[in-house]
Amino acid sequence: MMAFSDNALLRYDRQITLKDFDIEKQQRLADAKVMIIGVGGLGCAVATYLASSGVGQLTLVDPDTVSLSNLPRQILFSESDCGKAKVDVARQQLALRNSACQYLTLQAYVDDSIIWQQRFIQQDIIIDCTDHLLSRQQINRLCFTTAIPLISAGAIRMEGYVMSFTWQQNEPCYECLSHLFGESTGSCVENGVMAPLTGVVGSLQAMEALRYLTNYGCRTPGQFLLYDAMNFSFTTLKVRQNPNCKICAQPQSKD
Ligand SMILES: [Zn+2]
Repeated sequence: MMAFSDNALLRYDRQITLKDFDIEKQQRLADAKVMIIGVGGLGCAVATYLASSGVGQLTLVDPDTVSLSNLPRQILFSESDCGKAKVDVARQQLALRNSACQYLTLQAYVDDSIIWQQRFIQQDIIIDCTDHLLSRQQINRLCFTTAIPLISAGAIRMEGYVMSFTWQQNEPCYECLSHLFGESTGSCVENGVMAPLTGVVGSLQAMEALRYLTNYGCRTPGQFLLYDAMNFSFTTLKVRQNPNCKICAQPQSKD
C-alpha cells in the first residue's frame, strides 16, 4: 500500500474527512479497477465522478463516435469532438481532471468471447452504461459467469433506475429484473430523454460504485431505485430472484 502524497491528502480531503471514511478507504479507491461500458450520457457522468473521486484505473468501452445529438447529455464532449471516437475524447478530458488515474480504452462492442471474460475478471466492478436491453443482458451474463459485481442503470424519457448485482446467494440478477419489466427494447433514440436525467442516474451509479469499492454504508442486495423526474420522486423496490431465471437460478436448489 502506497502512502498518499500531501497533494493527494489535500485533494481528497473532503472525502477522507467523511465520518467512517478514511485514508484506508481512499486507498482502496486508488487501488480499484473499474470498467465502464458505454460512454454516453450515463458513462460520461460515471467516468467523470469516478476519476475525480480518485479511482485508480478506469477502462472505457464504447464502439461509437461523437455525434451532434450526443452533446446535450454527454458532458465530456464538445462541438469540435463530433466524428471522433468517444473513448479517445473521454480519456483526454478525464486525464485533464485527474492525471493520477490510469485510463484504458476499448473502441469495441462487448461480446461473449473468452477475451471479454478475461477483461471482466481483471475488474473490481463493471458499470453498465449502455442503453439497449440486449447489451444489458449480455453484460449481466458475463458478470454472472465471472462473478464480477455489476451496477446497471437505465435512463429514458423522464425516468431512470439503478440497481447493483453482487452475486450473493438468492440475490436477483439483471435478467430477473428485466423479467419483471417485460421485454421492452426501447431506447432513447425512439423515446427521447431529458439531458440532466442521465447526469442524475450516472451520478447514482458512481456513488454506488464508490460505496461498493470501499464497503461504505449499508449493503442493499436486490434493491431497485427508481427516479421519476416528471413527479420529482424516488422510489425503492425490493426485487426477488426469479426461481426460473435462466441466468442466476439454481436448477437443483436444496432450499
Ligand atoms: Zn436472475
